[in-house]
Amino acid sequence: MGNLQNERDAEQEWADNLLRQFGAVYDCDTHGYAVGSSDEEALEKAVRSGRAAPYGGRHPDEAEALLRKARRATPDFCPGCSAGSK
Ligand SMILES: [Zn+2]
Repeated sequence: MGNLQNERDAEQEWADNLLRQFGAVYDCDTHGYAVGSSDEEALEKAVRSGRAAPYGGRHPDEAEALLRKARRATPDFCPGCSAGSK
């Protein structure tokens, strides 16, 4: 019971960490919100790394899908910054 949920959380965390590691996702310095970088190359690097060493022995395609999904789920702009506090 609850194992599937834990497994999904762990996958999410893996994807999130990888995206951050390559700069595809970062935290706004001012507000601390997770923001997706517009740097496509950062995402591609994270995807290449993820495919080379997928989480939990998954298929590389699954690893890539996880990473792309996690990136899509992250807003492109910090909600605090886009509220106009520049
Ligand atoms: Zn911000």
